[in-house]
Amino acid sequence: MAIQQHRHCIICEKAIPTDEKFCSDRCESIYEERRKKARRTQLLFYGSFAVIIGWFLLMAFTQGG
Ligand SMILES: [Zn+2]
Repeated sequence: MAIQQHRHCIICEKAIPTDEKFCSDRCESIYEERRKKARRTQLLFYGSFAVIIGWFLLMAFTQGG
């Protein structure tokens, strides 16, 4: 007797076949939306980090005179 393999939808935890990642297109779009948002947050984080570094460099150069 084979053990039936299954996994869970990463959004709503519903049981789905192993070759599927989501139970529906709706869950897939929710996931994509979350991923995009996380990416945006990450970009914002690195962006502000770059600005801070840039600002420190600018200060270092302007105080050199
Ligand atoms: Zn789902």
